[in-house]
Amino acid sequence: MADTGFPLTGFSSLAIHAGHIQDPNYAHLTPIYASSTFVYDDAEQGMRRFSGEEQGYIYSRWGNPTMSEAENKIAGMESYGCDFEKPKAYLQASGMAAITTLMLSTLKTGDAILTHYSLYGGTQDMANRLLPGLGIEAVIADLRDLNKAEDVLKSNRRIRLIYLETPANPTIQCVDIEELSKLGKKYGKIIACDNTFATPYLQQPFRLGVDFVIHSTTKFLNGHGTAIGGVFLGRDVEFMNNHAYKIFKMLGGNSNPFDAFLLINGMKTLEVRMDRHCVNAVRIANYLSNHTAVSKVNYNGLESHPDYRVAIKQMRHPGAMMSIELKGGLQAGIKMMDQLKMCTRTVSLGTCDTLLSHPASMTHYSVPREQREQYGITDGLIRMSIGMENVEDILADLDQALN
Ligand code: PLP
Repeated sequence: MADTGFPLTGFSSLAIHAGHIQDPNYAHLTPIYASSTFVYDDAEQGMRRFSGEEQGYIYSRWGNPTMSEAENKIAGMESYGCDFEKPKAYLQASGMAAITTLMLSTLKTGDAILTHYSLYGGTQDMANRLLPGLGIEAVIADLRDLNKAEDVLKSNRRIRLIYLETPANPTIQCVDIEELSKLGKKYGKIIACDNTFATPYLQQPFRLGVDFVIHSTTKFLNGHGTAIGGVFLGRDVEFMNNHAYKIFKMLGGNSNPFDAFLLINGMKTLEVRMDRHCVNAVRIANYLSNHTAVSKVNYNGLESHPDYRVAIKQMRHPGAMMSIELKGGLQAGIKMMDQLKMCTRTVSLGTCDTLLSHPASMTHYSVPREQREQYGITDGLIRMSIGMENVEDILADLDQALN
């Protein structure tokens, strides 16, 4: 049910309408509420707002109408078709801000987290350096092996949070959200999932049992590369409205009305964009896996991918992210990237155009080489975010660059 009060059955209808509240001045779209504070009719009203006796906006670090629409839209999409209460979402300045708010609102010194070993470089860096500095140990294991995951949970009582990122950046490894959530619940742990690569259209981690979801909205949710952003969602609305809200306000990692406006409008086309990204990705993965210059294609939609079964079990479609290795290694990869005519050489992902990047020297530069290689992030790995161009043009560009 969207905020229209009318029962919406389709994902796109929800993505377009959820969270929208008619502007009192009848603007069609929710305006960019570029105001740091909100006024009161009288001093008593101000007091009531601060005490929580009366609902209403106070200060844009704490909440803002443009940001609320984006938050409610994402919460609607993450719980689309589910029978539990809509989660609570906080819009953040970046995906990293969302992860920080998650960590600092759920963990304290002496706790530990358990995470899979292929993660976005910034998250990996946080696990390697920032968390240990705060007295929070990060246990990194291959969570595709459920027995190993259970052994760790049994032997390390300090683990409080199981942190998942699936599909993972940039190896496209997938972990079984439902099984790990069950395991986590068995041992009384909190489970969080970074759903950036999949988006709520392709995968709904709350449905599979997790407690928290985070996104870098910079990517497919925004869809046009116009703003850095993130979101932190929780299923326990009581916890989110109280403890998590206090931490969110204290950390000051909130988004802003302009970026929220861009995000709202980007998210309205999520379903149609993802459908096109995904169809193109399958064609390209098949093409690359048959190319003589390519030694490896990491795409979870190929039956040869070790996590194919997990991906198709928990995702509507395997998505539009892949990574490849060329037979000529790093030098061949650099040469290929330099030859591209239409596809774009850049980091980030999820925009309309096809993007290619080199994780070892870019997104995962801060991850020590030994650790990178153990996780499958070799020097020759090239990550691809498949865009929405006509697939024949993407294929032609890759073909001329590879040949
Ligand atoms: N999570 C994943 C899977 C990512 O790929 C990224 C960035 O690339 C982040 C989190 C961090 O997001 P942001 O750059 O918006 O802080």
